[in-house]
Amino acid sequence: LGPTTAQLRDREQAYGAHNYAPLPVVFTRGEGVWLWDVEGRRYLDMMSAYSAVSFGHSHPRLVKALTEQAGSLALTSRAYSNDRLPLMLERLSALLGYDQALPVNTGLEAVETAIKAARKWAYKIKGVTDGQAEIIVCNNNFHGRSTTIVGFSSEAQYRDGFGPFPPGFRSIPFGDADALEAAITPNTAAFLFEPIQGEGGINIPPAGWLARCAEICRAHNVLLIADEVQTGLGRTGHILACNHDGVRPDGVILGKALGGGLLPVSAFLADEAVMQVFHPGDHGSTFGGNPLASAVAAEALSVLADDKLAERSATLGTYFLARLQAIDNPLIREVRGRGLLIGMELDTQRVGARVAAEALLARGLMTKDTHESVLRFAPPLVITKAELDWAVETIEDALTDLAS
Ligand code: PMP
Repeated sequence: LGPTTAQLRDREQAYGAHNYAPLPVVFTRGEGVWLWDVEGRRYLDMMSAYSAVSFGHSHPRLVKALTEQAGSLALTSRAYSNDRLPLMLERLSALLGYDQALPVNTGLEAVETAIKAARKWAYKIKGVTDGQAEIIVCNNNFHGRSTTIVGFSSEAQYRDGFGPFPPGFRSIPFGDADALEAAITPNTAAFLFEPIQGEGGINIPPAGWLARCAEICRAHNVLLIADEVQTGLGRTGHILACNHDGVRPDGVILGKALGGGLLPVSAFLADEAVMQVFHPGDHGSTFGGNPLASAVAAEALSVLADDKLAERSATLGTYFLARLQAIDNPLIREVRGRGLLIGMELDTQRVGARVAAEALLARGLMTKDTHESVLRFAPPLVITKAELDWAVETIEDALTDLAS
């Protein structure tokens, strides 16, 4: 017998920084949509590591790509070229339709890359005076946790104690195209947004908002940059969430699922007109575009297409959303979502999202509370209808118990 949940959690607390408050389970194994804890209990994964495990745990094709590549070549740095990177870049371009990609590792790094691209584009191409570029962002955004990025967060918890922050960002209400138009100045380089706010609480903007933002940005020569780290690669029922509105942003940020749930891989995608601002030596990272990451990401993009996971997310997401919306329980205020990215807003006067998440966990359904009021349901896209039915029944039972 190995160490118990309590022992492992004590060691984590003793030797690890306390920058998380994990729910009281210790996982040791995952397969598809299922996870097992160290006590042998099984859980349905309904959060997919914030949408990063879209392909399910240990997808055989991805594990094969990872292990084969690990056994041949894992890292050279970009001082030299490797034979796997072109494959990932070609597949990204073919699937997403952009001229070029700049590969990095985590979501925040790809956001930083987009910010750098937008600023340099504003100086070198738009003609903004050096040092004056502005980027417009949305209230309740989440783009990562670097000092620059938390500096333009509207969430006190992310910012408190970490300043000073760099200038050059303006925040407007999410979903308000008039506010975007009003905030634009001749120095505006870009509008950086999430098509659906994930960490902000699964916030879906009003119909027509994104298309109007695209028009406004085009009219003012401002780059439209979509952070699709959480929403991209099939999560919402299209390859990109922006596709729902027929909008093609000037720049797209991908992360999370791009690494197949196996390792961190992210990228900033744009056409040559923007990407030309980068020159040798002005941006990069030791691990960005490494052969191991490239082999897995290339395979992940193939699996996404071969298994039609975006279509699957659309069909199953519509079904799941309707079933969740049909649950009659006084604790539920609203269920909203697109594809398999769904938020259930609870009446916090009666139950907090954390308490509800713990009640679900006790019944073998693993989810995540987002803020005080929202439960997030974002299972791997490989989930079956029967598994979703089980989830609905489990959620229904748990909420009935909590309401009584
Ligand atoms: N952008 C969005 C929209 C995200 O949801 C996240 C992570 N939740 C990030 C960026 C940051 O990604 P990472 O944690 O890999 O830095």
